Amino acid sequence: YEVRVGPLAQPDRQGAEVMVSMHDVSKLVRLERMRADFVANASHELRTPLSSLVGFVETLMGPARDDADAHDRFLPIMLEQGRRMQRLVEDLLSLSRIEINEHAAPTDTVPLPELVHRIARSLELKCRAKRCAIVFDLDPGLPPVVGDADQLSQVFQNLLDNAVKYGRPDSTVTVSGHVVSQGPAGMPAPLRGPRRGPCIHIAVRDEGEGIERDHLPRLTERFYRVDRARSRQMGGTGLGLAIVKHVLARHRGLLVPESVVGEGSTFHVYLPLAADAATGAPSKTHPP
Ligand code: ADP
Repeated sequence: YEVRVGPLAQPDRQGAEVMVSMHDVSKLVRLERMRADFVANASHELRTPLSSLVGFVETLMGPARDDADAHDRFLPIMLEQGRRMQRLVEDLLSLSRIEINEHAAPTDTVPLPELVHRIARSLELKCRAKRCAIVFDLDPGLPPVVGDADQLSQVFQNLLDNAVKYGRPDSTVTVSGHVVSQGPAGMPAPLRGPRRGPCIHIAVRDEGEGIERDHLPRLTERFYRVDRARSRQMGGTGLGLAIVKHVLARHRGLLVPESVVGEGSTFHVYLPLAADAATGAPSKTHPP
């Protein structure tokens, strides 16, 4: 608590002449701590590849200046470290953009089937390298959602990318999409219409090793990874699911992770139907 002591606006002649007020600042303190942790984590994540990059440059400019073999070995590593920093900075910028737009309701009309098909096509090379297939079970009559087309692309890009990345080689990733009569518990109230009305449910299921139950509630925390070394080795930033969570919150939707160790994981996305998400602002159709 923060205690404030000040004079009364209209002092009472017989009684006390000061006012003592107590303010609950625990939420502010918690937010401030989260922000400080975030900055510390982000700096730490950048420091590791940066130190390695500087170390290699020093070596190549110093003792290994004329060593062609060292150039061949170190340059690809340096490039990968640079790319890792690039991915991290891009994800950090995405998060801050989402935060800036948090209170502005999105207004694009986004056809989800086209959007997920386009993302699946962009992952073709990755899938081929892992001999894995993405299959679809999407209701052809799935209505479009009112949302931010770029941000929704990021949601399904991150979920599909994870499903391929953490899926077993030679396995299948399934994307299914249907309208369900009610969102799950925890679904934010729509801006209009009945609470927990019908919504669009898209599920991204993989056949990976799965995630232990204890980790599930923490997956969307920034920089939280079940296996830090594995995530880094696979080029992860630890921010993908945090971005998904924030984008869905802006769309009054919800992410529900589900997993069976040894069998695989399913990430359920719930988005309100257009009528629920409508804000009264004119909507424009956006190419996926
Ligand atoms: P990362 O960049 O590390 O993949 P994410 O925020 O996308 O970060 O995911 C956080 C963590 O959740 C990952 O490090 C991984 O441990 C776990 N995870 C995410 N998706 C899956 C999945 N489909 N299967 C198994 N683990 C997953």
